[in-house]
Amino acid sequence: MDHVVIRREEYVSGTRDRPEIGIFTQAHQTRHPVPWGQIAIGDTVWMKWSSGPIVAAAKVQGFRQIETCSADRLREMTTGSQLFNLRDYWVSLPPAFSAVVIWLDDERWLDTPIFPNARSRGESWVPLKTAELREAWLSNRAPEQLRVEPRNRTRTRTIGYAMRFQVLRRDGFTCQYCGRKPPEVKLHIDHVIPWSAGGLNIPDNLRTSCEPCNLGKGTSRV
Ligand SMILES: [Zn+2]
Repeated sequence: MDHVVIRREEYVSGTRDRPEIGIFTQAHQTRHPVPWGQIAIGDTVWMKWSSGPIVAAAKVQGFRQIETCSADRLREMTTGSQLFNLRDYWVSLPPAFSAVVIWLDDERWLDTPIFPNARSRGESWVPLKTAELREAWLSNRAPEQLRVEPRNRTRTRTIGYAMRFQVLRRDGFTCQYCGRKPPEVKLHIDHVIPWSAGGLNIPDNLRTSCEPCNLGKGTSRV
């Protein structure tokens, strides 16, 4: 079966451009977290940003369900992942809860992010049990629907997740000015025509730049 996991940026480790998707934990105080009993090794999990697109897929390698869990116990099970160090997440958990931890592998980043029609209604995990659910979650909204997104109506300096991934993928996660890559450098998305000079957030006007090149360049054009 396929599943969609909806993640909030503040509880995902790694960087915004390369979030860690190899591990997923979920805790619920009054009931079993959604994947409990609905997940199998080899299942595909699609990662969606909360109020953003689906950007990656990965395969379930293993999972563990714990009836009476504490933050310390759950955290121990994430040893070796970046999530282990994400203090804000661990302190957000209640003293006792039902938990599930899922280990994922074979991650694949989508060339084109998916903006699904479906809504999660507050759930952070959606098993795609029927063909209708699959269709609603794993196919893109029509382009004319994308254009009426409120966030696209005004000109904004912020470059959305979908656009960032598109540009980073196109540029091979490499600085287009000096050729360096992470972890040696941190990557930014740079406007060719500066935003302050009317440059748009469109792929033709965006380029992957490392932090030193980006800062050195400022708003002057070469
Ligand atoms: Zn550079």
